Amino acid sequence: MSTNVTKTLSGEDLFKNVISHAKEYGYIFPSSEIYDGLSAVYDYGQYGAELKKNIREYWWKSMVQMHENIVGIDSAIFMHPTTWKASGHVDAFNDPLIDNKDSKKRYRADVLIEDHVSKILAKADKEIAKARERFGEAFDENQYKATNARVKEYLDKAEEINTRFKNALEENDLAEVKQIIEDLEIVCPVSGSKNWTDVRQFNLMFSTEMGSTAEGASTIYLRPETAQGIFVNFLNVQKTGRMKIPFGIAQTGKAFRNEIVARQFIFRMREFEQMEMQFFVRPGEEMTWYNHWKETRMKWHLSLGLGKTKYRFHDHLKLAHYANAACDIEFEFPFGFKELEGIHSRTDFDLKAHEQHSGKKLQYFDPELNQSYVPYVVETSVGLDRMFLAVMSSAYKEEQLEDGSSRVVLSFPPILAPIKAAVMPLTKKDGLPEKAREILDNLKFEFNCQYDEKDAIGKRYRRQDAIGTPFCITVDHQTLEDNTVTIRYRDTMIQERIAIALLRDLIANEVSLRKLLS
Ligand code: ATP
Repeated sequence: MSTNVTKTLSGEDLFKNVISHAKEYGYIFPSSEIYDGLSAVYDYGQYGAELKKNIREYWWKSMVQMHENIVGIDSAIFMHPTTWKASGHVDAFNDPLIDNKDSKKRYRADVLIEDHVSKILAKADKEIAKARERFGEAFDENQYKATNARVKEYLDKAEEINTRFKNALEENDLAEVKQIIEDLEIVCPVSGSKNWTDVRQFNLMFSTEMGSTAEGASTIYLRPETAQGIFVNFLNVQKTGRMKIPFGIAQTGKAFRNEIVARQFIFRMREFEQMEMQFFVRPGEEMTWYNHWKETRMKWHLSLGLGKTKYRFHDHLKLAHYANAACDIEFEFPFGFKELEGIHSRTDFDLKAHEQHSGKKLQYFDPELNQSYVPYVVETSVGLDRMFLAVMSSAYKEEQLEDGSSRVVLSFPPILAPIKAAVMPLTKKDGLPEKAREILDNLKFEFNCQYDEKDAIGKRYRRQDAIGTPFCITVDHQTLEDNTVTIRYRDTMIQERIAIALLRDLIANEVSLRKLLS
């Protein structure tokens, strides 16, 4: 057993190191870097593209292939402009923004307030944790919250701010939002001052023109979510696929938002990718399905083994105009718990709105009830890039090894690793490279593999550790005699001798959907 020690990195250090590792090893580059980059836009490099594709594929297979009643589509990014009128995005897809006059930095007013509330709740959590330690088994958290004066004060304060903020948003009272920021004495983290501008609403959609002549051209939008491409195709898919309610339509694809504050690497980008599934159900049954999908999606996240304590649910304080229930699955990123996926009960809002704006019926005839209705919808929506960041930042480890040396390893779940196996001849002569290529040529039909013969074997192992390859296969002189190789496991660094004939099954088992999902 290895006694390697993993260095504990704090949030900010970890985040910094993940970002530079992602760049150095071909995972993520700033967009158009030779021109000094473009704010909040990133490119995925040779390994990043593979990791991203594997995450997308894992999602697609779990959602579409594993569910008889879910099918996938691929709708266009450009849509008829009325789509966005109907969906409410033209009128209501806004974020409240505020500027600090001294630092000239721009913030989302809602985020400033939410962060302030989080800090208060963190104080309460700290007291609760201390008490739990003191009282041990006998600790009753609810009673403690209700009776401990200090904790109660924190919780009441948080509740009071939340209620006030919720009311302000519901009444679209931006002066009140500013007043809350002033009353809470929130300061700009950069300038430290409370010198704020008024709060303004800012629409997040990018627009462009379609058509060649000035008169004939019309304004169209880059889609801010993939969901609407599903809604407008609801009947096409239902009829051609003979789908029976309840059923789902899934899709993955690019979405665009002109985010006000985009400072957290690929967490918040202006061009990003979503993986969404809209599940159509009978009116009145939406809460059952909402709870079903909450549970199913959490299980999916846990199946990746990044750690149970890294996830939590967060119920929405203010429901979007289309929802009657909504929550986020939050993940503990290096900068704290933040939204990874949203699960929303969207009612019949979208289909009804498209009926009204298009004049076409978007209804389902339910043979069991012998009646037609506009289905209700439960949505699961996860950001592919945020999944990427969750996987990458959990996988990144700096280890101190027994022999005094150190390594950086990306301990990806094997199913997501960009390269599954590296095949290496111990030396460049005596027929070892030929034998190694023969093994690679056999494995490459099923797995993305790499051949590497440069440098000493230890250095090659480090290189594979740094890109997260779960298996290294080394060909030596014994291989030529008995058709066995050394296989080295990334995480434990254990090496064992196995027959070449067993390699395929061994790798296949480790990267199989069956192993993770059943
Ligand atoms: P946030 O509150 O962080 O702005 P949101 O609630 O607006 O997110 P949704 O509209 O629910 O996000 O979008 C669904 C998912 O799409 C999110 O859970 C997130 O993973 C992803 N997503 C949304 N905006 C971005 C972005 N700017 N960059 C990367 N991923 C995003």
